Amino acid sequence: MTRATTVPLIDPFARAITYLRVSVTDRCDFRCVYCMTENMQFLPKRELLTLEELDRLCSAFVRMGVRKLRITGGEPLVRRNILTFFQGMSRHLESGALEELTLTTNGSQLARFAGDLYAAGVRRVNVSLDTLDEEKFARVTRWGRLAQVLKGIEAAQAAGLRVKLNAVALKGFNEDELFTLTEWCHTHDCDLTWIEVMPMGDMGEEDRVGQYWALSDVRCQLAQNYTLTELSERTGGPARYVQLEETGQKIGFITPLTHNFCESCNRVRVTCTGELYMCLGQEDRADLRAPLRASESDGQLEDAIRAAIDRKPKGHDFDYSRNEAGGQMTRHMSHTGG
Ligand code: SAM
Ligand code: SF4
Repeated sequence: MTRATTVPLIDPFARAITYLRVSVTDRCDFRCVYCMTENMQFLPKRELLTLEELDRLCSAFVRMGVRKLRITGGEPLVRRNILTFFQGMSRHLESGALEELTLTTNGSQLARFAGDLYAAGVRRVNVSLDTLDEEKFARVTRWGRLAQVLKGIEAAQAAGLRVKLNAVALKGFNEDELFTLTEWCHTHDCDLTWIEVMPMGDMGEEDRVGQYWALSDVRCQLAQNYTLTELSERTGGPARYVQLEETGQKIGFITPLTHNFCESCNRVRVTCTGELYMCLGQEDRADLRAPLRASESDGQLEDAIRAAIDRKPKGHDFDYSRNEAGGQMTRHMSHTGG
């Protein structure tokens, strides 16, 4: 049984929570060096929310005013029967309660899923791709194959999905591909967003601070070949956009470390185990799995969500300024879902 709730989720800083990112698995078929160790220990299956629980949870958020739902992971498309979940969510698109259903994927399974995702109402996908060089791609993802991802992107576009590439800016790794990636996106009609590497998890041998390539620098380099016009468009998240006048392309920059975007934050995240993180950069969280499992009705779940949103902090504490990964989080991106 469900309750028809109409009171929207508003946090203590008067921000309406309209955007939910949900990680549906901690597993992945890649082992990107900035995201996972090679021998990751994954969670036992019973710890994960079932597809039915994920449906109840997302539907509760939609009832409480969430308009955009982004599915992530781990790699969302390696979760068994995940299509059923997308198909279930399409009812909220049809009713008009949900504006957008989308996902962030490494693209490896897109060739298989693109048509069905489109049929379920997905119109846009973010595909993570840091390099167009086969050997470098294999190095950064450890287990990935570039050709498979490129095929996935092609299939997605053929199915009618708008594709945005997300590239993590890595010093000494893809600096030299700034223009190649930009031109590739122009020819292939994809948007492109650069992400600053964040101090997530504990990578052991990787020198995180050394990998950091400031997006202010990416921008300056782009400006040497293109005329950049700042776009006012904001999504309530950490992305800012410019337009390249010569090509009309939109380029995004996600700079959680160098810009404070928290004042307009409209989003929260749920992990694959049902933990609600009110802020990507803070450890405070609320367990939603217990109320989900405690009762078949959603009353306790909704109460737990509201209580958590009442604790959403004003902002986060990431800071590289002392040349160390300050405010470092101990959890992995694949757990919180990027
Ligand atoms: N597997 C999917 C993918 O790769 O798109 C979805 C999950 S992944 C954790 C989501 C995003 O987080 C990807 O774009 C990935 O590049 C990014 N990411 C992972 N670790 C990161 C880190 N330490 N800093 C910045 N971005 C990171
Ligand atoms: Fe997998 Fe995405 Fe993490 Fe890469 S970034 S290891 S593809 S979850």
